[in-house]
Amino acid sequence: MTGLHRPGLLQIGGFPPEVQSQIDAEFERLGAADIERDPARAGDIRAIVTRSNLEVPASLVERLPKLEIIATNGVGYDLIPLELAARRGIVVSNTPDVLNAAVAELCIGALLSLLRQLPQADRYVRDGRWLEANFPLSTSLAGKHVGIIGLGRIGKEIARRLELFGVALAYHGRSDQGLDWRFEADLAALARDVDILIVAAPGGRETARMIDARVLDALGPRGWLVNVARGSLVDEEALLAALEQKRIAGAALDVFDGEPDIDKRFLGLENVLLLPHIGSATQETRAAMAQLMLDNLRSWFRSGRALTPVTA
Ligand code: NAP
Repeated sequence: MTGLHRPGLLQIGGFPPEVQSQIDAEFERLGAADIERDPARAGDIRAIVTRSNLEVPASLVERLPKLEIIATNGVGYDLIPLELAARRGIVVSNTPDVLNAAVAELCIGALLSLLRQLPQADRYVRDGRWLEANFPLSTSLAGKHVGIIGLGRIGKEIARRLELFGVALAYHGRSDQGLDWRFEADLAALARDVDILIVAAPGGRETARMIDARVLDALGPRGWLVNVARGSLVDEEALLAALEQKRIAGAALDVFDGEPDIDKRFLGLENVLLLPHIGSATQETRAAMAQLMLDNLRSWFRSGRALTPVTA
């Protein structure tokens, strides 16, 4: 330890200049390279800032004896070693709620793009093919049955927006929330009942590969999948096979295993809409997330309490 005036902070990943300047004004920023050079500096680090799509390795946390808080810029915490943090009394904070609208908007946009084939239609016009024939008919959202896996903060915002499209809604989770929307405890049964399955549950051990071949086959050749949660919830091999063999109608995916280096087989498929993890990626939402991440850190170092600690 070198007795810093400002709390020592380790940053994982990059932030926009306006966020970075606030971090650098209020914290003594150290990088992994600083610790490699001088291992004693690990004792200066009291906070980690990160983004939810980047991993905070347990081995790193173990090397930081004075770590007090891990503040992630995002709502997901599946890449943070929560059990280790809890054992060590390290607080983990995230940025819930401020991104609900952006992710719900992206989900609705992706779903409509998938059903109405908007990217294909755009390409059709650009390629001059409209002069030769009309674009093939697609399918409506109105009247469809939709199942949401994970009716939490984001799932509910998606559901509220979907109601305006005249669909029938049901949801799956660990518990019946006693809402007007129908609860289905059996995921495969939900997949069998609906035309569209939307994934909005957290990543992590409990949900890993829950959308497997059995669920996809229950969804069937007229069924559509939209994933705005985490790639880990879907068995990608099973999904690729189902898309290739047209055992489901199509999928819209904002998240993938191993992103951004996604499985190349997706690129050759026409029945899938591929998005680069942009659920929360609007100017307004990213600013609100960064603000909440910083406010969590400030609150912790001022009062010993984070504003939005992860309680799971
Ligand atoms: P949340 O409020 O915690 O909601 C999660 C929901 O999932 C809850 O309704 C929960 O209901 C359900 N759930 C939890 N474990 C489950 C399980 N094992 N099986 C089925 N359902 C389960 O979280 P949120 O703020 O809505 O965020 C959801 C996820 O969206 C995040 O974890 C994150 O990974 C993802 N996300 C993605 C983007 C993007 O850019 N694409 C942006 C933000 C967030 P029960 O407790 O009743 O099971």
